[in-house]
Amino acid sequence: MNGAPIRNIVIVGGGTAGWMAAAAISKIMGKMPGLSISLVESEAIGTVGVGEATIPQINQFNSLLGIDENEFVRETHATYKLGIEFVDWTHIGDRYVHPFGHYGIDMLGIEFHHFWLRGLELGDSHPLDDYSIGAMAGKAGKFFWPQPDQPNSPLARLGYAFQFDASRYARFLRTRAEMQGVTRIEGRITEVEQDGESGFVTGVKLESGELVTGELFIDCSGFRALLLGQTLGVEFRDWSKWLPCDRAVAMPCTHGGSREPLTRSTARAAGWQWRIPLQHRIGNGHVYSSAHMSEDEATQILIDNLDGEPFAAPNHLRFAAGHRAKGWDRNVVALGLAGGFLEPLESTAIHLVQSGIARLMALFPTTTFSAKEIERFNRETEQDYIDIRDFLVLHYKATTRDDSELWNYCRNLEPTDGLKEKLEMFRSSGRVIRDHNELFTETSWLSVMACQGITAGGYHPAADLMSDEELLHRLGHIRQVIATAVSQMPTQEDFLRSNGSAI
Ligand code: FAD
Repeated sequence: MNGAPIRNIVIVGGGTAGWMAAAAISKIMGKMPGLSISLVESEAIGTVGVGEATIPQINQFNSLLGIDENEFVRETHATYKLGIEFVDWTHIGDRYVHPFGHYGIDMLGIEFHHFWLRGLELGDSHPLDDYSIGAMAGKAGKFFWPQPDQPNSPLARLGYAFQFDASRYARFLRTRAEMQGVTRIEGRITEVEQDGESGFVTGVKLESGELVTGELFIDCSGFRALLLGQTLGVEFRDWSKWLPCDRAVAMPCTHGGSREPLTRSTARAAGWQWRIPLQHRIGNGHVYSSAHMSEDEATQILIDNLDGEPFAAPNHLRFAAGHRAKGWDRNVVALGLAGGFLEPLESTAIHLVQSGIARLMALFPTTTFSAKEIERFNRETEQDYIDIRDFLVLHYKATTRDDSELWNYCRNLEPTDGLKEKLEMFRSSGRVIRDHNELFTETSWLSVMACQGITAGGYHPAADLMSDEELLHRLGHIRQVIATAVSQMPTQEDFLRSNGSAI
């Protein structure tokens, strides 16, 4: 690999991905002598304009940037998020919460769910939701920060994320990035210049004729993938076979319902609908498969199922599930939609930007580009996509719905290898396995498998060491402790007001 020592980093694109990259890289490396960071974006092209729900890892990103949480919540009109409520996924009429945090408490050194499974055999049919403070508080519209210094409280292990206005988040990060020395350049890129021999990108030319040169380019140009895809020709690996939804229509509406700290995903005939309550509005969208439903029908279903008055025209988006075969090629690293896309069922896209930035920072070229480091970046990035894909496919596979072509297709789909192994393990022994350092924890896998009707073939034998009475008593105690804690938590509205983060 060749390339000149890095003096100029050029970020192409100013959506959420671009400004996250600009804010983080300038925070970490901005003081390096002789290093300049610029970001090129085009107001005329604009951003994708959706993407509102996050997962708890965003707290690490914000704290790396030194962001004050109350200020961030107020500026981005955010609400808290304790998990995702899935409605009609297993069958019409069913609902459950995939919460952040944990279920119950481990006993005798064994994971809690083995005791829950044994409880089911003893006739205690309380759902998993009852053992999660995130699920119970979310449904009750309550929120309070985790209390790690109170180990006996269920609040000790509460996990939370945010639901926010992604455009406001990008603006919020832009202010910080510019204060940290990032130069913003407005203009549409019309040409990309490359080194004749190596193919390295050397500069991007704007409509105005200005040439922005650099040694490292970060492609945050969205679905266009201007540098990695269009210029370097890195192939897109299409996973539509497993995730056939390829369209979305988004439309915000006024608040007509409550602002519970939960994202809701409701399964529809050819996809699913999201509902994300922010402080000032509800974000809504319908993700669907164009092979199974027309744009007009999908839009009508969305409009018919809003909790308030729509106040913007429908925003239609097209995509394919998958990722670029290499996230880093030559001197171009893609982040965000330029690197790949998996439908927002588990709100993972912003997290993938964050993990891409962290990986780039860890493997940042010392002098010139090293093939080994690039290969590692690509391997780890691909694994992230595979892990998330398998988890998303589980939601579609674990259904009994047979009321439409899409559900029949998904129910009968041959699972991916990673998913197959997890399903077999749970079906045979009730064990939930987590490979390497994959994003979704045992709690997440358990939540979707158990709540979507995958039957555990057994439980850990150590769960039999407890007498029936003791086991049922402990299960009841955990439920009661959680219910009491939830009853003492403030509503999300009161919590936001008391912290000065309400708008
Ligand atoms: P974009 O927002 O498209 O930004 C691209 C940038 O590149 C823009 O600034 C544009 O001006 C610039 N650009 C492009 N071409 C040129 C050019 N020629 N010259 C100059 N500038 C150029 N993520 C989540 O985490 N949670 C969610 O709930 C969620 N929901 C989503 C729902 C849908 C339907 C979709 C499609 C995505 C969702 N996402 C979600 C993903 C999230 O929106 C994106 O990952 C995130 O916003 C990052 O987008 P981006 O910055 O990569 O691209």
